[in-house]
Amino acid sequence: MPTTGLADWRSQGACLRADPELFFPLSERGPADTQIARAKRICAGCKVRLACLEFALASGEAHGVWGGTSEGERARIRARDRARRSRRQATRRLVADRPG
Ligand code: SF4
Repeated sequence: MPTTGLADWRSQGACLRADPELFFPLSERGPADTQIARAKRICAGCKVRLACLEFALASGEAHGVWGGTSEGERARIRARDRARRSRRQATRRLVADRPG
């Protein structure tokens, strides 16, 4: 498969044939639970899911279902990644500051 650019993966999304409102519910609670679950089932069978999730995380997409994740799930992934980077930087500083 050739390398897919932004336009390519978007044009291959399984959501193109689905109701867009499933992917952008008004909240993550109540009736939206059902919409999000339906959107995630569509994402589960999408061949560009990874590219979609990487894009959403890299671009900070705060709203909607992307790559099979909800807004809250992506926020938790970003928080976990920030914490990991912070620990790594702290470790590097400790190693750099250690007397040789
Ligand atoms: S992973 Fe989900 S939101 Fe992303 S392109 Fe595929 S179906 Fe659409």
